Amino acid sequence: MKPESLMMSYGYKPELSEGAIKCPIFQTSTFVFKSAEEGKAFFEVAYGHREKNEGEELGLIYSRINNPDLEILENRLTLWDEAEECAVFESGMAAITTVLLEFLKPGDLLLISNPVYGGSDHFIKKILPKFGISVAEFSVGQTKEEIIQLVENTGISDKLAMVYIETPANPTNDLIDIEESKEIAKYFSSSEKEIYLAVDNTYMGPIWQHPLKHGADLVLYSATKYIGGHSDVIAGACLGSKELMKRVKGLRTFLGNMASPNSGWLLLRSLETLKVRMDTQAINAEKVAAFLNTHPLVEKVYYIGNLSEKDGAQFNIKNKQCLSNGGMISFDVKGAEKDAFRFLNSLKLIKLAVSLGGTESLAEHPATMTHVDLDPALKNKLSITEKMVRLSIGVEFYEDIIYDIEQALTKIDK
Ligand SMILES: *Cc1c(COP(=O)(O)O)cnc(C)c1O
Repeated sequence: MKPESLMMSYGYKPELSEGAIKCPIFQTSTFVFKSAEEGKAFFEVAYGHREKNEGEELGLIYSRINNPDLEILENRLTLWDEAEECAVFESGMAAITTVLLEFLKPGDLLLISNPVYGGSDHFIKKILPKFGISVAEFSVGQTKEEIIQLVENTGISDKLAMVYIETPANPTNDLIDIEESKEIAKYFSSSEKEIYLAVDNTYMGPIWQHPLKHGADLVLYSATKYIGGHSDVIAGACLGSKELMKRVKGLRTFLGNMASPNSGWLLLRSLETLKVRMDTQAINAEKVAAFLNTHPLVEKVYYIGNLSEKDGAQFNIKNKQCLSNGGMISFDVKGAEKDAFRFLNSLKLIKLAVSLGGTESLAEHPATMTHVDLDPALKNKLSITEKMVRLSIGVEFYEDIIYDIEQALTKIDK
């Protein structure tokens, strides 16, 4: 069966919870063992002192290690990406930083795509160097050969330990080739050392893009965005093979940055409507983009659905790895910051806020908000200018969204 058919029931047994049709919130710190022998057996498995016996499940011990709301949520999340294992975190940043800390050590080199989410960018460029980790960066449009050269130019290509990418890039919707990124990781791998590829799939996942199918080793989410989808919870997730996830979950246990039972419960509820929400958001985005594409006060529209053959590599990447054009659109207004601000200040239905992927449509100004910290030269190179507005399209009736954009655009003129 398809994941959307299983989101209401998978992994939950009503008979273990008084017949309740929905999984209750297991708001408990610890779990009572039936016997000392059982407690011993649970710990042996949890700490990896022995493998699970045939049919044995890891018993419930303590909510930093496991909790039913988190376990059921993790099992359901694996279905969309067809991953072996999942770990949920108290934020997207917790998922990302845990992965980077687990797979990197002092002296290592990390290769990233540009731009990545502001928080990830800060952690990678300002915090990882304190631990002796260096960073090499590539941008959209660079060929595989150029990227390999760039890594070699660092003089420490033998120290490359991980490739970390985010695609589509925020806020320009530029695409990075996942398969090619894995080829670069393989190029620098040896029989002693495998270089892993991690992909932040927040913008498209888990419905519209499945990085594991294109060679990624780990896929990361800010579950705050589409997965949560109602702008009422901060959470994150990481998915991958049993082998790698054992390491990720191991570090999570000791950093203690797992999601809370309440966040887990909210996300279980969100997952039931994930497919219908995202389908509607993609349809609405298509209508909004069509409107913006022909509007005289709009200079340029950044939307995956606008890619065509003349865009060459970008169009090919889209056809290879994107199952939808997504729900995110950026555009440049004709004018300057004051015109973009006038547009933002005139919106009535669409809320002026950062974040994305929720049921309500949102608008923001990347250059002075989400991307304010980016190096000015890089900002220019990536076309994140003062004219740009970013939209996250929600589930409202699309004519109402367009009406709101249209009335706010008329305010620019005056
Ligand atoms: C929001 C976001 C994050 C960070 O997630 P939090 O849940 O806010 O910690 C990481 N990556 C991307 C692409 C995001 O949009």
